[in-house]
Amino acid sequence: MLGLMMHWPLMISSLIRHADRNHGETEIVSRTVEGPIHRYTYRDAHARSRQLVNALRRQGVAPGERVGTLAWNGHRHFELYYAVSGMGAIVHTINPRLFLEQLTYIIEHAGDRLVFFDLSFVPLVEKLAPLCPGVTTWIAMTDRANMPQSPLPHLICYEDLLAAEGDDFEWPEFDENTAAGLCYTSGTTGHPKGVLFSHRSTVLHAMAVCLPDAKGYSAQSVVLPIVPMFHVNAWGIPYAAPLVGAKLVLPGAGLDGKNLYELFESEGVETSAGVPTVWLGLIQYMKENNLRFSTLKSTTIGGSACPPAMMKTLRDDFGVRVQHGWGMTEMSPVGTICSPKAKHRDLSMDERLALSLKQGRPLFGVEMKNVGADGVDLPRDGIAAGDVMVRGPWVLRDYFRGDGGNPLSADGWFPTGDVGTIDSDGYLQITDRSKDVIKSGGEWISSIELENIAVSHPAVFEAAVIGVFHPKWGERPLLLVVRKEGATVTRDEMLKFYEGKIAKWSVPDDVVFVEELPHTATGKLSKKTLREKFKEHRLPTA
Ligand code: AMP
Repeated sequence: MLGLMMHWPLMISSLIRHADRNHGETEIVSRTVEGPIHRYTYRDAHARSRQLVNALRRQGVAPGERVGTLAWNGHRHFELYYAVSGMGAIVHTINPRLFLEQLTYIIEHAGDRLVFFDLSFVPLVEKLAPLCPGVTTWIAMTDRANMPQSPLPHLICYEDLLAAEGDDFEWPEFDENTAAGLCYTSGTTGHPKGVLFSHRSTVLHAMAVCLPDAKGYSAQSVVLPIVPMFHVNAWGIPYAAPLVGAKLVLPGAGLDGKNLYELFESEGVETSAGVPTVWLGLIQYMKENNLRFSTLKSTTIGGSACPPAMMKTLRDDFGVRVQHGWGMTEMSPVGTICSPKAKHRDLSMDERLALSLKQGRPLFGVEMKNVGADGVDLPRDGIAAGDVMVRGPWVLRDYFRGDGGNPLSADGWFPTGDVGTIDSDGYLQITDRSKDVIKSGGEWISSIELENIAVSHPAVFEAAVIGVFHPKWGERPLLLVVRKEGATVTRDEMLKFYEGKIAKWSVPDDVVFVEELPHTATGKLSKKTLREKFKEHRLPTA
């Protein structure tokens, strides 16, 4: 027997319609690429999204068609999120930090005909245009006064497009499993792979992200996503904020310490989200200028492991509670967020920090397990480390156009490629990316654990650990360190720093000091580049 509740498909358009009706006065504030701060409300954003649909239809955009964006976090990008998906087409957010060949590949693979871009990407778009013959129209996300002088073919001005249209448009209702968004993985091995989100997966993910033990957003929140809207939908925040009516602050291209700090302060931002590297820059700027936050209370940090030193600095020096989060493009992206339980109330500060370093518990909607090399489920004891597998309504089932092989295990789980432990309370701790695990003799050494210790040294700005060839052990850890400006620390001091903190056999065999470390397009340490660069490195122990 079927239930007798209404059939009401989960539509992305219902999020913005809800925000207009119930939080119509709440602001969306953006730092524009052109310079000034732009300020309007959910009501305005809803009206302009509908104008944009009318413009897209005039450009011949059909349901199911992919529409590309090369853009920062800003109000026009937000309008594209809602207009494109809401009309039944697919918003394809392109990561401008990828290599030119990867960009060409994904634009062609997606079949983008229209690409919207922010002005900072004019030089990039000029390089892309001759390589992407499938793109017939390039739309500059600006007004007439700021239109670039560019030889680009079929160049259109965003504000001209909108000005020609009214906002008379009723959002269509269709199957909630319809595709809504497309985002490619950064493709560290082979071509980037397309992950195709649906209306249903996006709305369910946004609801889960708002829960109190997840990000806990409400109509009283002021949220600034530092994580870009081209990096897995800014972790779902552009959908979650209208769902609860939170004020949304979008930082545009100003992701440096100064610009971020000023926006946090001027807009009364209370909560944020970003990868560890942007926080490094912000913390450094604030320390150099002796600044404090007046409103920021918490932030989610994920995308890479948040080092304990960063968590401690944010907590003790800046009064900011860090919530560790873990996920991936294939998971929309949020899988776990770290929040304490009632039983943790009486933990000491140090015990709380140790708990916060775990990547957290799965949100309802994500089932998770870890398995050993033989594929057998491991005990949930917080000790046994194995391949982390997930399944759920916002986990991918297949890559776009099937290019990426069969991503699921025979019994329908998605192997994340991460290695970790799960404890009896459900907390996940990632020990490594499976490709980055250092296999020394029969033992596995966690590069994340070694990096976390290195960056807790007062002279260390950033650190990476990779496995390099060793004739006896197969691989041994090599530590690469970027010192803080003006700081001095020697190789021996660095190695001594590990004493008593971890088992002797997992202490790195060597240390190399470098000027900087390479990062991927999504801000992670590029271990692949480092392994390539140091593949001839001879360890003193070899
Ligand atoms: P992406 O698809 O670019 O979001 O990258 C996903 C990958 O980032 C995951 O598979 C992890 O390897 C890594 N990652 C994300 N969050 C964390 C975290 N909190 N700690 C460690 N690694 C993380």
